[in-house]
Amino acid sequence: MGLANFKMALDAAGKLYETAKALRNIDLKLETAKFKDSMADLLNQAADLKVTISDLTNENRLLEEEINSFKQRKNIRVKLHLVNGYYKLDEETEGFKFGNYCSSCFEKAGLMIPLTSPLEVLTCPSCKAHYE
Ligand SMILES: [Zn+2]
Repeated sequence: MGLANFKMALDAAGKLYETAKALRNIDLKLETAKFKDSMADLLNQAADLKVTISDLTNENRLLEEEINSFKQRKNIRVKLHLVNGYYKLDEETEGFKFGNYCSSCFEKAGLMIPLTSPLEVLTCPSCKAHYE
């Protein structure tokens, strides 16, 4: 993950470049076998580079998702107010409706779990916390 994958991509691109440069200098009439070997190396190096770039692309997508999740939680946090231990969301934010949410689930896992009140007591359907 991370910088190690970037280093792998740079190394793979470097090898590819060196092989391509060497290929340019091969005399095709005199060194057919050498040309074929170098061409095979070039194709392998291109395949390695493709895999590494694919890994980096996936990693980048995961990091973007993580950043968006942090931004969403930051936007929600400024609209939450602690009332008797639970959170009240003042207005619809990031797709979450105005209402009461479990502070425990938000703090522990970043989850916005709306509280229900089946027996007049605000209860979290996920962690079963009661707020009175
Ligand atoms: Zn909860």
